[in-house]
Amino acid sequence: MLTVLKSLETLWLWREQQDGKDIGFVPTMGALHEGHLSLIEKAKSENDQVIVSIFVNPIQFAPNEDYDTYPRPLTKDREKLEKIGVDALWAPNALEMYPEGFETSVSVAGITQLLEGAYRPHHFDGVTTVVNKLFNQIRPTRAYFGEKDYQQLQVISKMVRDMNINTKVIGCPIHRDKSGLALSSRNAYLSPEQLDIARRLNSVLKSAPDLMRTMDIAEAETKMKNILGQAGFDKIDYVVIRNAETLKPVKNKREEEMRVLAAVWLDKTRLIDNMGI
Ligand code: AMP
Repeated sequence: MLTVLKSLETLWLWREQQDGKDIGFVPTMGALHEGHLSLIEKAKSENDQVIVSIFVNPIQFAPNEDYDTYPRPLTKDREKLEKIGVDALWAPNALEMYPEGFETSVSVAGITQLLEGAYRPHHFDGVTTVVNKLFNQIRPTRAYFGEKDYQQLQVISKMVRDMNINTKVIGCPIHRDKSGLALSSRNAYLSPEQLDIARRLNSVLKSAPDLMRTMDIAEAETKMKNILGQAGFDKIDYVVIRNAETLKPVKNKREEEMRVLAAVWLDKTRLIDNMGI
């Protein structure tokens, strides 16, 4: 039976009842798809209780972004959580999370200035603030994040290390459809023609190791950018090969673990993807 929790009072009561149990936590913004469900399955296999949060976090969206239009199919989401056997759903509204007078922010320096942080300046402060609150509210044993948002996973891991939060952060592989397209709630914005173009993104990223055999990193990045442009993407924020942990430029490709990461646009929809090299 899925327990639906909408107020902090009921959440804390639920939490008290779980004392001594291992609690797995999967934070989401809802519009659940197989990618989210793969995180939940992993959480179920490693914990006594699994709690999922659905909260479209206003402070991680810039005014020109898609906060208002972000899909919110709560009834369908609840059904999916019930079917997969989740124990509790934490679904606060914005006022429960940010009551009047709220004015604290949690901010990780350094890594948040790169890539996504450069294109979405306040995004990661919004993410770390809400995840910190969620961790305080739930005090999970383990929390599950997708590599789909690879930089977010690194930022949260850093926050947890830096702030001695007693939760183990677990990164989970990207769930893709048969064509290789990374599942995302934002794929719902795409027309069939745009979906065809979106499917090219992962095949271009997959070519990175081959390109790097015959050219240096800067050349490989330019080549991928050109191919993405030809494939029909309207704008490319970045397609880069970086150190897999710091996300800084690679100094020595023979010694560092590397990752290729991209953010691209199809009309008003921004898509991100990444892959280990
Ligand atoms: P979101 O609801 O988009 O904020 O995502 C909630 C969590 O699910 C985040 O940790 C995401 O990285 C993860 N996630 C989203 N899409 C996927 C996917 N295709 N594969 C694996 N994890 C995902």
